[in-house]
Amino acid sequence: LSDRLQNTIQKIRGKGKVSESDVKEMMREVRLALLEADVNFKVVKDFVKKVSERSVGQEVMKSLTPGQQVIKVVKEELTNLMGGEQSQIAVSKRPPTVIMMVGLQGAGKTTTTGKLANLLRKKYNRNPLLVAADIYRPAAIKQLETLGKQLNMPVFSLGDQVSPVEIAKQALEKAKEDHNDYVLIDTAGRLHIDGELMNELKEIKELSNPDEIFLVVDAMTGQDAVNVADSFNEQLGITGVVLTKLDGDTRGGAALSIRAVTEKPIKFVGMGEKLDALEAFHPERMASRILGMGDMLSLIEKAQANVDEEKAKELEQKLRTMNFTFDDFLDQLGQVRKMGPLDELLKMMPGANKIKGMGNLQIDEKQISHVEAIIQSMTKKEKVNPEIINAGRKKRIAKGSGTSVQEVNRLLKQFEEMKKMMKQMTGMQQKGKRKGFKF
Ligand code: GDP
Ligand code: MG
Repeated sequence: LSDRLQNTIQKIRGKGKVSESDVKEMMREVRLALLEADVNFKVVKDFVKKVSERSVGQEVMKSLTPGQQVIKVVKEELTNLMGGEQSQIAVSKRPPTVIMMVGLQGAGKTTTTGKLANLLRKKYNRNPLLVAADIYRPAAIKQLETLGKQLNMPVFSLGDQVSPVEIAKQALEKAKEDHNDYVLIDTAGRLHIDGELMNELKEIKELSNPDEIFLVVDAMTGQDAVNVADSFNEQLGITGVVLTKLDGDTRGGAALSIRAVTEKPIKFVGMGEKLDALEAFHPERMASRILGMGDMLSLIEKAQANVDEEKAKELEQKLRTMNFTFDDFLDQLGQVRKMGPLDELLKMMPGANKIKGMGNLQIDEKQISHVEAIIQSMTKKEKVNPEIINAGRKKRIAKGSGTSVQEVNRLLKQFEEMKKMMKQMTGMQQKGKRKGFKF
């Protein structure tokens, strides 16, 4: 399917103009791509509506490359929807900072607890205490203790005969005694949301007053993840989400839905079973992943890096109305340097691509610096009214720029011809005539 999206984009991207039906067609593909990536249908609907509005709006239509702009809008909105990058972790003014890990069974809570502890030490130089508060899952305590050993970090446990709330309570006391600045509580999960579990989690929350409640969600669970996130958030009030198992082949649509439904940030993503496989969440990367448009990134970057579009437009306007001066010419040369050959710039101008021979137009890079020097040696008046440049002025300009009078002459002639050419082009466009133009 992402192939179909690519095809549509391919079709639109070269277009000088994008019609509403083009946008519609593209939005249909975007919608399918999102649904296939397991994004919640309501989220998809809202998203497509927003992007459509922006795409048929001024901003895109007046641009010189509307096809690329539509793609840009899709990505931007998708990125916005997932929020900015927010991988910071709360720090309590009165240590220890308490982080409660919650989520369904098998989501990756225990593993992520270990990963997070590792990150806290490595990146922030912290000294966490891990707390084994899952007394239900067989071997859950052992699993955390094993992780603690691997990390060489303390694990607090009281076996499986003491209530999780009591475990949390004593763990906090122990952390204060031992000066652990973070306490990570690994709680129990269930296969499905259930009231008993929620009550237990609420009790732990009340007692430990956590600075963060991280909901751990398996990215592979797709649509279900939304309901899970919604329930946990409603009943507990989560502060952030960790999306695990993104090293699998899921497109990660859950990220989008969870963020949209809970309005809580996705903080980290799990990229493997190892203890260092926890990464900050990058909304842009996730947007690309969801749309299945890895190689479209370069395309978008190109569109963004393109010459300042407003400026190009302004220039075009000037050329048409003949207000084009040597200052503009100089400006243009600067742009040419930034973006490549002049013919590229001309091609961007509507209608210019229809002129035969335009593709052959080239500019010698070496000459450009001479041209720049000549223009810089002109007075303000001369730049605006080159007609006043007489023999005496030409001599002065040549001397000032370290060039020759012949070169100054050549530039003046080129400039005149360029203006003439633009005039013809404009006239041609207006009359719809394409023949009889000699380049
Ligand atoms: P819990 O029941 O929520 O505590 O889940 P666990 O931490 O025990 O993880 C369940 C399984 O998922 C384990 O086999 C983990 O190794 C695995 N797992 C957790 N996070 C990731 C991840 O980011 N990538 C992969 N591939 N596996 C993960
Ligand atoms: Mg566990």
